[in-house]
Amino acid sequence: MSEFLASKYAGLSPYVPGEQPRDRAYVKLNANETSVPPCSGVAQALADPALAAGLGRYADPHCMALRKAVAQKYGLDASEVFCGNGSDEVLGFLLLTFCEQGSRISFPDITYGFYRDFSATQGLAWTQIPLRDDFTLDVEAFAAFDGMVVFPNPNAPTGLAISCDDVVRIADAHPERLVIVDEAYVDYGNESCAPLVRKHRNLVVVHTMSKSRNLAGAHIGWCLAQADLIQDLNDIKFSFNPFNLSAPTMAIGIAALEDEEYFRKCTTTICETRDRTIRTLEDMGFTVLPSATNFVFATHPSLPATEWCARLREAGVLTRYYNAPRIDNWLRVTVGTPEEMDVFLRETRRILGL
Ligand SMILES: *Cc1c(COP(=O)(O)O)cnc(C)c1O
Repeated sequence: MSEFLASKYAGLSPYVPGEQPRDRAYVKLNANETSVPPCSGVAQALADPALAAGLGRYADPHCMALRKAVAQKYGLDASEVFCGNGSDEVLGFLLLTFCEQGSRISFPDITYGFYRDFSATQGLAWTQIPLRDDFTLDVEAFAAFDGMVVFPNPNAPTGLAISCDDVVRIADAHPERLVIVDEAYVDYGNESCAPLVRKHRNLVVVHTMSKSRNLAGAHIGWCLAQADLIQDLNDIKFSFNPFNLSAPTMAIGIAALEDEEYFRKCTTTICETRDRTIRTLEDMGFTVLPSATNFVFATHPSLPATEWCARLREAGVLTRYYNAPRIDNWLRVTVGTPEEMDVFLRETRRILGL
């Protein structure tokens, strides 16, 4: 760190994304993305000569066409949608807009690391609410907390989900504070709270196209909330980075939202491959949490997770290990294509000597 770094950032520990090594070809199951391309409409949108020809002009800072496409999908109005350069940026804008220095915020002890790392940059007072022993979210404890709440549903890296009724219980317990539900993995079988934002004023639902829409490289996210909250978010965005989404990015997002059939085909395949992967791992003696996502979280009584991870890596398979309390003998493995999972399962069987 240089001597010029603002002192408010002393002690910062930036979020570490899953590694993206380029030294050889890997079966990449460490960042919950996919090797499957987005729908064909995306390539068509990018090939449109008008797109390139218009790049001399700034894109629409209101992101109106994309917001309309999102709103239509969820039966909402464009005024209830805020778009960002990935859901990370949306989450960042939410904390920038609705938290003061020293504001209290809570999230699970085992969860997406971004919440803690960004809270640290903002000088927020965060509380980690422990997951229960079975790694389920402690709904009562979150309901009782009277500061801002943020959690993924389903949670990562556990893959476990709570019902929309439980989300509503948390939101309604303290209507004076915001509850941000990060639904990055909702498209793999869980029910979305999106329609509930109209009735629950303090509820914000965050989505991303990085996972279920095969678009991590385009980095598009949004949140859904009541219109005056969205207006607040836009006011902060316009004071900081009005043109946060490029024209190609928005064109990609709109094209991807149009192909519902491809979306459903991709998510269905992931769910089938996931369930088969879980059964096969269980047959090999693993304990696997019941996942509602595009990843599995697994542990083995006689194969330490560090060794499993390292030996998979030697075999060209990348997975995600967390050296953190309670989960340091577990591995998170993204559900890739059926062929990629065959390689992962074959190598795992070999490592176990089966
Ligand atoms: C992947 C992920 C995100 C980030 O998504 P981007 O839109 O790529 O920024 C947010 N939350 C959770 C829980 C995730 O796993």
